[in-house]
Amino acid sequence: MGNLTLKTSNGGSCSISEDELAQLRGGMRGRACVAGEAGYDEARTIWNAMFDRRPGLILRCAGAGDVIRAVDFARRHELLLAVRGGAHNIAGNAVCEGGLMIDLSPMKSVRVAPWERKAWVEPGVTLGELDKETQAFALAVPTGINSTTGVAGLTLGGGFGWITRKYGLTIDNLVAADVVTAEGKLVKASERENPDLFWALRGGGGNFGIVTSFEFQLNPLGPEVLSGLLLHPLEAAPDLLKAYRRIVSTAPDELTCWVVMRKAPPFPFLPTEWHGREILAFALCYCGEASEGARAVAELRSLGKPIADVVAPHPFTGWQAAFDPLLTPGARNYWKTHNFLELADGAIETLLAALQRLPGPECEVFIAHLGGAMSRVPLDATAYPLRRPHFIMNVHTRWREKAEDDAAIKWARDLFEKAAPFAAGSAYVNFMPADESGRVAEAYGSNYRRLAQVKERYDPHNLFRLNQNIRPV
Ligand SMILES: Cc1cc2nc3c(=O)[nH]c(=O)nc-3n(C[C@H](O)[C@H](O)[C@H](O)COP(=O)(O)OP(=O)(O)OC[C@H]3O[C@@H](n4cnc5c(N)ncnc54)[C@H](O)[C@@H]3O)c2cc1C
Repeated sequence: MGNLTLKTSNGGSCSISEDELAQLRGGMRGRACVAGEAGYDEARTIWNAMFDRRPGLILRCAGAGDVIRAVDFARRHELLLAVRGGAHNIAGNAVCEGGLMIDLSPMKSVRVAPWERKAWVEPGVTLGELDKETQAFALAVPTGINSTTGVAGLTLGGGFGWITRKYGLTIDNLVAADVVTAEGKLVKASERENPDLFWALRGGGGNFGIVTSFEFQLNPLGPEVLSGLLLHPLEAAPDLLKAYRRIVSTAPDELTCWVVMRKAPPFPFLPTEWHGREILAFALCYCGEASEGARAVAELRSLGKPIADVVAPHPFTGWQAAFDPLLTPGARNYWKTHNFLELADGAIETLLAALQRLPGPECEVFIAHLGGAMSRVPLDATAYPLRRPHFIMNVHTRWREKAEDDAAIKWARDLFEKAAPFAAGSAYVNFMPADESGRVAEAYGSNYRRLAQVKERYDPHNLFRLNQNIRPV
């Protein structure tokens, strides 16, 4: 086969001898693969089809031992390094061109101990896989709203979804993590062991090492939750959004309601004349007693004249996957995000003006609402930047053809710029696209300096740099 040429982190290249590669392969429990070998294309293909990159070598790890070997190999040769969990990162950071990809997706173990309400989760596990295991015991970790997303990347950036107002961010439920550091050492991070690393992992992304096991506390939930959609014509949005911001500001922690505005997909429960027309959907979940839930959602249900109301008790695992058909892998995607402390009239007008010019049938604006338990954690308790109740605007621009890139991206950027005067400054790093590396310090606000110090301690040469990068001090 001859020597293998790999890209280094400084833009150069290095040559790996046949012998060294054979030794690496022989030492692994998982598999090493190069272009043309089984598993290579599967591993390099990520959720966002904007990124069609070809790593020089992929190490498909089976456990912490493999991850240590892979990190040592990357450090020794100063390789350009990408780390893949569930491969949903919008910025495409899971895959690199020409360098080394450490693929954690084969690491799929979930162990639940219902007697102590804990779960140990490996970094290749998806949200749907975690839910299926924990829901067997009517327990749950708060995660996100698309079941194919990876637990690893989502957790390291913060992680929120339908039960965050009740049970906190995903990181608020993280008890400990096993981490392979840039030095290739496996360490434990928790409140007691390496507390600075534990602080930074909770929101600071993949900057500090590779997590090989997450230990979560579990919360009682389900197996059914009152959940579903209320669909309205977009023309009714100005009044609906003003009522929405009032209702959610005093809602119980059990109730989460987010807004989705887009062209209506051909949902079977929607009259056909509405397919393809602009709609506003309230997507809601009540994670307490169903009888109390009916009262909690009554006001939202009474707003305007809905085209469809499909709010009912659903299995939690089903509701967690409800948006999957709209978020399948393989499309081209570009996202823009702002945090808002309030949903000001001006912000609503700006959003609605942009929605009149949607660049495609799959583009949408999501407004998530956070608060409750996550907002009762002090700002400096974890690296996650914004603990006050807030709204997160996520502009999901999504299309199929490369020829449409410019128009779609321009639409998202225009909306982002026009909405900026209403934004809080901080931002959720897990929603930031590849061209926003300059925004990372601003996104973390007052937590950034401490993050840079922890980075200096655990990764002074910035081995883990293909992420929303925090530079060592
Ligand atoms: C369709 C969709 C829906 C989403 N919905 C939500 C949502 O509801 N709530 C929410 O909070 N977020 C949501 N997100 C954002 C999501 O949290 C991020 O995309 C996250 O990066 C996905 O993690 P992953 O493991 O799938 O991604 P990957 O691309 O595999 O990983 C992302 C990055 O995390 C780092 N990383 C991954 N694994 C490890 C590890 N074990 N150790 C160290 N670093 C690691 C690496 O830097 C990697 O580049 C959504 C994303 C998508 C695409």
